[in-house]
Amino acid sequence: MGRMSLAAFRTASYLKSVHHLRDLPPDSGREVAIAGRSNAGKSSAINAMAEQGRLARTSRTPGRTQQLVFFRLAEDRHLVDLPGYGYAKVPEALRQHWQHLIEEYFRSRQALAGLVVVMDIRHPLREFDAGMLAYARARGLPAHVLLTKADKLSRSQQLATLARVRRELGEQASAQLFSAQARQGAEEARAVIARWLELPGVQ
Ligand code: GDP
Repeated sequence: MGRMSLAAFRTASYLKSVHHLRDLPPDSGREVAIAGRSNAGKSSAINAMAEQGRLARTSRTPGRTQQLVFFRLAEDRHLVDLPGYGYAKVPEALRQHWQHLIEEYFRSRQALAGLVVVMDIRHPLREFDAGMLAYARARGLPAHVLLTKADKLSRSQQLATLARVRRELGEQASAQLFSAQARQGAEEARAVIARWLELPGVQ
């Protein structure tokens, strides 16, 4: 299973960016959404999972991307990079557009099979994260948390934070340690996503 999911990630390719729901690709197959506050390390996590340096662009301007970005992993199997925000400087009109887009996407998208939320391990479970998890819960979708930038903490701090976050999440979501920089956790994350996507060859 590890090799099958890695192959799909390694050959993942950019499909399209969607600013309005009318531009979504056909609602068929399966897709997993990945969300995170700006600067949490979401783009780096996507690139690390794909073992591709520049699949998702890492951000220079926080909050810049206000689009749903679709990556194709296999036939009718997609990873959807949700726009992240969390910076006060996002203008109100943009914030409202974002919220409407995300809410409608979660409410209506049949292909959506699960949600991954990327959190900086030093600042987990902020309001934004709780909101995203609530969208998933409202749909009965499974959720998984990547506590990224784990390399910023000692091993014992990593494990203590993971235990605390798991306790706070309860049944809401599973959680794991991740670091794009230290190449930690990619296999575990890919396995979760591959299972939700029912990638060919994955049990
Ligand atoms: P995004 O806005 O959530 O897509 O975040 P990015 O992936 O662009 O990362 C934001 C910043 O965090 C960048 O400066 C990255 O180099 C840094 N970063 C991302 N992942 C890691 C990691 O695993 N470890 C460390 N130390 N820094 C990271």
